[in-house]
Amino acid sequence: TKRVFSAFTASGHLTLGNLLGAMLPAVRLQDEADCVYAVANLHALTVKHDPALLRERTLEMATLMLACGMDRSLVYIQSEVPAHTELSYLLECTAHYGEMRRMIQFKEKSAGNEEVRLSLLTYPALMAADILLHRAHQVPVGEDQRQHVELTRDLALRFNHRYGETFTLPEAVHPPVAARVMDLADPTAKMSKSRGSAGTIYLLDDPADAHRKVMRAVTDSGGEVVHDPANKPGVSNLLTILSACTGRPVESFSYEGYGALKRDVAEAVVETLRPIRERHAELSADPAELSRILTGGAARAAERTAGLMAAARQAIGLPSTA
Ligand code: ATP
Ligand code: MG
Repeated sequence: TKRVFSAFTASGHLTLGNLLGAMLPAVRLQDEADCVYAVANLHALTVKHDPALLRERTLEMATLMLACGMDRSLVYIQSEVPAHTELSYLLECTAHYGEMRRMIQFKEKSAGNEEVRLSLLTYPALMAADILLHRAHQVPVGEDQRQHVELTRDLALRFNHRYGETFTLPEAVHPPVAARVMDLADPTAKMSKSRGSAGTIYLLDDPADAHRKVMRAVTDSGGEVVHDPANKPGVSNLLTILSACTGRPVESFSYEGYGALKRDVAEAVVETLRPIRERHAELSADPAELSRILTGGAARAAERTAGLMAAARQAIGLPSTA
């Protein structure tokens, strides 16, 4: 069977971009594959963070992942399975400084920052370890993560070539629409959970807030509603969101003006978030159940990845005493 892995950084509240670009596609893959989804709390340590807040967000994220429908997958917290950091080190010894420095995410997140954590540079090695540890064939992610998955393939190939077949080569899979949801207040920027703005919709926003954010979305000059991302980024983003939330193709929509489009988008977003909010409330009422799921998930993940970890250690020249 096909194996699937993806992870979500505990760097803020999950957004509509995370949901449409990666979470719902990940949920759909459960019908056809063996799926593993992790809360990437170690990745959240790559930029300035608050320890208490990180702990809180890690649990919120796990709860939301289950609330979105990942309850048929193996779900756990990255830091609870030490093999992630161990394999990451072996991959740092496989990767080159130059290829890490060239990553777009590193350039963006380090720009203008005086205290760049070293882990921000090595982030892709940890992400590669996450994926390779589970011998994943497919990685459902938004468009922005394509480069990191390509680097993961390069590292896997290089390692296999040098030390013998060890890793499975993964491929990124992106949803047909909404692989890059833009910020409603600035449709030239990606909607992001760590760099929130008035145009960021969070999964737990109350319906009135989510509705208002859509109604205030920045649109483009000229009144026609057409899907043309280069010239009409605002309207195109709204059409994309509408398509992803309703399951209807972008071409099927026809609107006379921005007002009617926004009202339909606002309603579709609120309806998409409603069941997630409800399920989140139910799950939050039972923290013991959540902790049971996460503890069990980490134990199973450790068990499932032990063989691969031993093979990687052996291949690179470390003694296997176990
Ligand atoms: P951060 O700002 O901390 O990087 P993020 O919003 O980019 O947060 P990640 O945890 O880095 O979220 O990414 C989780 C998943 O969501 C990844 O698969 C990523 O590609 C996807 N994703 C993130 N932002 C968007 C977006 N605007 N549109 C579509 N997919 C997205
Ligand atoms: Mg990101």
